Amino acid sequence: MNRERLKVIVRGAVQGVGFRPFVYRLASELKLTGWVSNSSQGVFAELEGPRTALDAFSIRLRKEKPPRAIIQSLESSFLDAIGYSGFEIRESETAGDKSALILPDIATCVDCLREVFDSTNRRFRYPFTNCTNCGPRFSIMETLPYDRANTSMKKFLMCPDCEREYHDPLDRRFHAQPNACPRCGPHCNCGTKTANVSEKDNALRRAADAIRSGKLWRLKASVVFN
Ligand SMILES: [Zn+2]
Ligand SMILES: [Zn+2]
Repeated sequence: MNRERLKVIVRGAVQGVGFRPFVYRLASELKLTGWVSNSSQGVFAELEGPRTALDAFSIRLRKEKPPRAIIQSLESSFLDAIGYSGFEIRESETAGDKSALILPDIATCVDCLREVFDSTNRRFRYPFTNCTNCGPRFSIMETLPYDRANTSMKKFLMCPDCEREYHDPLDRRFHAQPNACPRCGPHCNCGTKTANVSEKDNALRRAADAIRSGKLWRLKASVVFN
């Protein structure tokens, strides 16, 4: 069967919305080989396979894109196949103008909320729970492309469980840059000007109680490493 190579450049709000994992899954489903990567301008991809599968890819790319993604433009061209053997998410390219759209922070999705209120889940009552469909974006981003190394999450080393989710194409946290859990992610502390009074869940409860009783509360984000 004749194989061709499709080169695709997608611009718009396509970073931090699970676009690369989506391309990965779509390509795998259509048995296409090649790669996808983030760049400072958008998402770049090359796909190889029979023309019919490549056409199906182009149609489904627009139709089934992740809910938060906004495609502003999609350029594609056909080239000669060069024989990619599998499909991979490549390291981001950092060269060129930084023109990709940056997403705002996104409110916690229903799947994450379900986990936060499930006492058997490891993220039970964990306030920094997020996935590719929700969580911080703009407020943690230091530069483009949107990769963990370019966010304030870079200093939090993922635990083995989070790491597994991050690398599993079938997990909704596949390449979720701020992925975290109580074991490896940031935590809340609550205190006076001079001392730490409580931490983690107790800090959260204390702040909630104070607000409920009409007190003023000051929120401050800071990262402290031991
Ligand atoms: Zn979520
Ligand atoms: Zn973790």
